[in-house]
Amino acid sequence: MPPRPRSLRIQLAVWFGGLSLVTLLSAGIVVGGIATTGMEQAAGDDLYRSAKAGADLLAVGLREREREIRVLSRAPHFVRGDLDSNDVRQALDLRKQLSSEYAWIGIADAEGKVMQSTDGVLIGNDVHERPWFIQGQQGPYSGDVHEAVLLAKHLPRPPDGQPLRLLDFAIPVYDTEHRLRGVLGAHLQWTWATNTVQNALPPDAAAQGMEVLILNRQGNVLYPQRRVGEHYARQQLGAHASSVIGADGQRYLSSAVTVDTGMPGNLGWQVVVRQRLFDALAPAHALRNSLIAAGIAAALLFSLVGYLLAANLARPVEALAKAVRDIGRGETQPSFPQGRMTREVLRLRDAIRDMSRALLGHQQELETMNASLEAQVAERTEALSAANRELERLATHDGLTGVFNRRRFDEKLHEMVLAAQRSGRSFALLIVDADHFKQINDVHGHQIGDEVLKQLAALLDAGTRATDFVARYGGEEFVVLLPETQSISEGLIVAEKIRGMVEETAFEGAGQVTVSIGLAVSGAEANTGPALIARADQALYHAKQGGRNQVVAL
Ligand code: GH3
Ligand code: MG
Ligand code: MG
Repeated sequence: MPPRPRSLRIQLAVWFGGLSLVTLLSAGIVVGGIATTGMEQAAGDDLYRSAKAGADLLAVGLREREREIRVLSRAPHFVRGDLDSNDVRQALDLRKQLSSEYAWIGIADAEGKVMQSTDGVLIGNDVHERPWFIQGQQGPYSGDVHEAVLLAKHLPRPPDGQPLRLLDFAIPVYDTEHRLRGVLGAHLQWTWATNTVQNALPPDAAAQGMEVLILNRQGNVLYPQRRVGEHYARQQLGAHASSVIGADGQRYLSSAVTVDTGMPGNLGWQVVVRQRLFDALAPAHALRNSLIAAGIAAALLFSLVGYLLAANLARPVEALAKAVRDIGRGETQPSFPQGRMTREVLRLRDAIRDMSRALLGHQQELETMNASLEAQVAERTEALSAANRELERLATHDGLTGVFNRRRFDEKLHEMVLAAQRSGRSFALLIVDADHFKQINDVHGHQIGDEVLKQLAALLDAGTRATDFVARYGGEEFVVLLPETQSISEGLIVAEKIRGMVEETAFEGAGQVTVSIGLAVSGAEANTGPALIARADQALYHAKQGGRNQVVAL
């Protein structure tokens, strides 16, 4: 079965919609891809700038703190005076007041006993086992963040309720002969460091899903506190932002910058600024989504346009098809599409209209021709049957007298012989012969002779019954068949009547004419046509012999 043809409306709607969808979707994918790459790059640059700023600020801060402590350690009352003097205390307090990031500054003697400190906190405490004291005896020391041990109960907790965290600085204090007098230690508020990196983020960092981390040399998270315990492989991180999977399994765009203090005992921290890839690319996703939405909307719109366009194209074509169908059904005044249509359809309509007009014209011509042909045929048929009838009459009638001819007589006689044989009823045959007819011709002319024969035939017709049969047997001889004639006497009555009528008649131009009549009745002696004729003929012979103008029966 051939496939069912699809409607033009649906086809155009699908094509328009499909093409616009494909175009806009591919545009969406390409533009979305370009935007994604661009945004990834831009977001990466932003992250790098923040990380770099955070790391640099932190490095500068740490360097300044280290320098401050170093400068302090070389002050004269540290080098020469008593370590527990008020001068030392004042110098420490002043330093702490000038830089709010200090939580505690103190000096321990060579045995690890705190000699003097800011606000007098921990004076007399033994710190010889604290890492800053141990390391600080060797040279300048900076240590990773740690929770306050001895200081925890002396200093206020940070406002967020977290335990106090501190960064340690330590430096040896020597006398003028470069003998170790003690160790100057400083504890910095961890919040100072975290605020420093936090401030390097743009103001709307949280809204953008940006986050800053501080990692130690091993890649362990130092900040923020909620991520402490997470670990990052440092080789995965680079200054230039790259996409990495975070400890939470989420994909992040991250930039890591090492905090380079340039100091001995560099901490090797890294400031990592990262943003969830999804957040970084949110504008690109939004752009792609709106392009896809626009694509779908455009596809629907184009489908509708295609549908309407096809409907506009198809409507006149369908009207045209209907008109053609109507013509096929015999409609002579089909309604053709009117109004707006394309030039091609207009041409098709005009061509079909012209063709149908021509066809209708031909059809009418044919119908007219057919009608006249039928009339002609009827006329010819009638003429033919009239001719046939005339032929039939000519074949069975005598041309001169109008009574039946010899041929018809022979048939009739045969029929009557058969009928008589079936029914057993007899009939009579008369042969009527004009007397001395030769003389009539001779005296009055042949034409008068013909007229006499005509009158004689009319007389025979008039003198017999409708069921009787009169024919011209030849020349001036006539025959009469009388059906249902059982006896000679019955036949004689008719024969006599005829003979009398002829005798009584005055023939135009000829006067009196007489006839002799031979009569025979069918029966055992004459049971065939020829036998009956012979018998009647013989009777006629006798009538002639007997003096003419008489009837003889046999
Ligand atoms: P008979 O009394 O013995 O019968 O004498 P007849 O003259 O009638 O008989 P015959 O047989 O001698 O002649 C018949 C004549 O009838 C001869 C012929 O010219 C004439 N006749 C035959 N047919 C026609 C015809 O059609 N028209 C005319 N005008 N004459 C005819
Ligand atoms: Mg004769
Ligand atoms: Mg005769």
